[in-house]
Amino acid sequence: MVIYTVRQPDRERELEHDDLPFWRTKALDDMTPSEWEQLCDGCGRCCLLKLEDEDDGEVLLTRLACGMLDIGACRCSDYANRHKLMPDCVAIDPDVVRKLAWLPRTCAYRRLADGRELAWWHPLVSGSPETVHEAGISVRGWAISENAVADANVQRFIISDFDDE
Ligand code: SF4
Ligand code: SF4
Repeated sequence: MVIYTVRQPDRERELEHDDLPFWRTKALDDMTPSEWEQLCDGCGRCCLLKLEDEDDGEVLLTRLACGMLDIGACRCSDYANRHKLMPDCVAIDPDVVRKLAWLPRTCAYRRLADGRELAWWHPLVSGSPETVHEAGISVRGWAISENAVADANVQRFIISDFDDE
């Protein structure tokens, strides 16, 4: 006797797709505002001051954080009004992600734009907002507020770029 297994490949694919989290099924451009915000891992790396070399345009990273960053929480202290209060704060959107060379490779937006997965420490993967700190990805504990440093001394705080992903 031959026993046939009846399969419904299309339905199975549909179910698998439905079970996947939004960041694995949607392009960055298609995400809702809420999904977009959830993608931020809360590392605070993009809020570090950068200096541009006038001669060759090279962007140098510093360990000085924007004066509006709550370094302990690694969150903007007034996210809703950040562009009004800090006019040079860059709004991160899909186009910006594709263009900004200084966005860290650990950044969730950059990872997805590059076709990579979110890392294990991303809060959406781990289920905990603490893992981004526990993994040493966030700026908590070592960044210094720009408010505490005179402009003339900013260059002393240049650091090498992040080499993790
Ligand atoms: S680097 Fe990316 S993931 Fe980290 S805080 Fe900035 S926007 Fe969010
Ligand atoms: S204004 Fe807020 S979001 Fe913008 S760089 Fe400063 S801390 Fe980061």
